[in-house]
Amino acid sequence: MNEPTGVAVDAATSIFNLPDYRVISVSMPTDGPRQVIVETDQPPGCPTCGVVASRRKERRFQRIRDIPVAGAVEVLWSKYRWYCEEAACPRLSFFESTAQVPRHARSTGRLRDHLVEAVIRSGRAVSETASAFTVSWWMVRAAVNEACVLNLPDVDQLSPRMLGIDEHRFRSVRYFRNPESGSWTRYEPWMTTIVDLDTGQVLGVVDGRDHTGVGDWLFARPLEWRLAVQVVAIDPSAAFRKALRMWLPRTAVAVDHFHLVSLGNQAMTEARQNLSQQVKGRRGRAVDKAWAHRMLLLRAGDTLTGNASHRLAEVFAADDPTGRLQAVWKVKEQLRVLLRTASLADAAAAKDELKALVEAAGRPETNKLYRTVCRWWKEIEVLIVTGATTAKVEANNTGIKQIKRTARGYRNAGNYKSVILMTSAVRTAA
Ligand SMILES: [Zn+2]
Repeated sequence: MNEPTGVAVDAATSIFNLPDYRVISVSMPTDGPRQVIVETDQPPGCPTCGVVASRRKERRFQRIRDIPVAGAVEVLWSKYRWYCEEAACPRLSFFESTAQVPRHARSTGRLRDHLVEAVIRSGRAVSETASAFTVSWWMVRAAVNEACVLNLPDVDQLSPRMLGIDEHRFRSVRYFRNPESGSWTRYEPWMTTIVDLDTGQVLGVVDGRDHTGVGDWLFARPLEWRLAVQVVAIDPSAAFRKALRMWLPRTAVAVDHFHLVSLGNQAMTEARQNLSQQVKGRRGRAVDKAWAHRMLLLRAGDTLTGNASHRLAEVFAADDPTGRLQAVWKVKEQLRVLLRTASLADAAAAKDELKALVEAAGRPETNKLYRTVCRWWKEIEVLIVTGATTAKVEANNTGIKQIKRTARGYRNAGNYKSVILMTSAVRTAA
């Protein structure tokens, strides 16, 4: 049997475990949670002169919100006013405060920490966190905002070398009816994040996906900050390229790897659908091998197992009478080869091969893909030389992905932005 060791404190205080407080009594009302009455465990220092007080004046009870301790509790703080006995001090008396419950606070620090933890580290929605801790939605928001103010670094004090600009839709599309004309307007709530590609930290989140939001954000940075940025990675469909020349004229622009690979996959899917219409005169069905294995066509060719490449060969043998589907697949794979090259000479050779495969395929989908590659060739070269891509940031930043998934919980764009910034800062620091 284990003998108890250590300093003896009363059981209730040690179980309740709120620093700087001791439990003086507990009452069990028939309706409502247990009431825990606490007081501070040592005399406070005067907030003006710092001299520790020894004489108490009156007291009052303050209700403070706290975490559940073996179930919901209501905490009442028997809070004293103390005399300041330092003759030289202008303050005559003061109410005590603690690190857990500073002046004007209505809740314990450990409750606020738990709320921030739930939203930022565990990625729980604010509304869900509020009901789990039986506090108001506003209280959770306030705790997160306070943590943002205390913890977010000053962006202008950082000096990122490589930026990534990435847009995403943060809520589903909504329609609004114009009351006068009766017509419906489509509203897509887009957000653009600006990321430090070296650290993966989100530096800014701006509304919309056009260049004005990002432009205003960049203009707000000091000139030296902007001059220190060497590369910006963007997605190839964005209107950013032209505008970046204005905001960051000395900065090389790279096109993002991930977005190019998805353009290749898009061409693959369109070619499969169009070929089905042209060859069979109908949409793909489960009996068609190309349709049944449509995801296999999109997988990275070099990662296919023996079994998977065997199935892929079967698809081409059984369901590709013109050989066009396989030709498009080769184009898609060659684009991936091109993006993995390590030098401009290798990239140029890979581009020649891509061109030959595109000509062999003779499909509108791959012709379009090749035109995009040519239009963005300068930016692809920057990508190959610098490796500036948002893909690795996306992969590291699972936290951001999780927020995007729970984004439906955020009605307010400002709150959503602060949670993204905060999550990213916490993850970068970890
Ligand atoms: Zn004093």
